[in-house]
Amino acid sequence: MAFMMNVSVLGCTGSIGRQALDVIRSHRDRFRVTALCARSASQEILELAHEFHPEAVGLTDEQKAISIKGGLPEGCELIAGKEASRVIAAWRSAETVVNGISGISGMEPLLASLNAGKRVALANKESIVCGHKLVKDAFENGGKILPVDSEQSAIFQCLTAGKKTEVTRLILTASGGPFRDYTQEQMERITPKQALCHPTWNMGKKITVDSATLFNKGLEIIEASYLFDIPGDQIDVLIHPQSIVHSMVEFLDGSTMGQLSVPDMRLAIQYALTYPDRIPCPCERLKLQEIGRLTFFEPDNRKFPAIALAYSALFEGGVMPIVYNGANEAAVDMFLNGRIRYSDIAECVEYAMTHITGRSISSAEDIAAIDTEAKRKAAERAAGKGR
Ligand code: MG
Repeated sequence: MAFMMNVSVLGCTGSIGRQALDVIRSHRDRFRVTALCARSASQEILELAHEFHPEAVGLTDEQKAISIKGGLPEGCELIAGKEASRVIAAWRSAETVVNGISGISGMEPLLASLNAGKRVALANKESIVCGHKLVKDAFENGGKILPVDSEQSAIFQCLTAGKKTEVTRLILTASGGPFRDYTQEQMERITPKQALCHPTWNMGKKITVDSATLFNKGLEIIEASYLFDIPGDQIDVLIHPQSIVHSMVEFLDGSTMGQLSVPDMRLAIQYALTYPDRIPCPCERLKLQEIGRLTFFEPDNRKFPAIALAYSALFEGGVMPIVYNGANEAAVDMFLNGRIRYSDIAECVEYAMTHITGRSISSAEDIAAIDTEAKRKAAERAAGKGR
């Protein structure tokens, strides 16, 4: 008989959070929602509170939180303000926490969950890219990370086919985004509206742009290296437009294991929740005879500088992954607001990486300071001051 698992969902109104709740909806006999947290989607979280009857809901936007105070179901505690995500992340009765927060703000809640000994179904890659040292230390408290990102989940699943010492290569696949066949000239004219259309995955704005620029893949190279403890020179990227093979692991005998499925995040979310078990998933079955062809090719590094920049951030280590992430976050924001061109995004990141030098990181405050500096450098480049 399956046991009941208490699950909290951070970023519950975002793309990952909504799909996690969908998985929970289809397995009510197995999962109970313990606590929910969002940034400011007050009406949506209110509806979810009435549907799932959690012990607590959190909203980091204090004003929005106050606005729903009277409407919550009886016995549901409200956590309002900046602390909300950290409080919900460590909520006492939860065993598993789905962390679907986007951006660097997912890091402190991750640390809070791990320090409280929780299992974390983690979709937030920035927290690993920027905070891996702190995350490693937090593992001492008994917490565990189960990856939700489709590529990391694929690798995690493929790794069960052999021993860690038998792994020779991780092969991350990338859809290549909507612009993989564009010429350099066409790339210059890409608008935010175009960049927000992803061919195979339906996701939030930031990650959709990151998928087009391949900065998302760059972050995943760094994330995979830290999560699975594999050096960057043993990690490859292949463009795979069909998004069916979600990533692969090569073993020393030359055998390569891949994980295949229709592109549906619910599968990776569910596996992170049920690991090491597998249970039926509400997603579609793979029919390879209908897909017919699976293709793979190497990314064009000239058109997608994000990949080479990620390797150099990883090889240099120290603050560089934080700079890579922070500068990109700022640049994507500026692009979406019409302040820079699509092709300026990578330039802003490169500029920040060459203008910030190493120093040691020992706390979340250190990481936040470097993140702020990286964003400032990206803005400086955007304003043309750094030319
Ligand atoms: Mg991914």
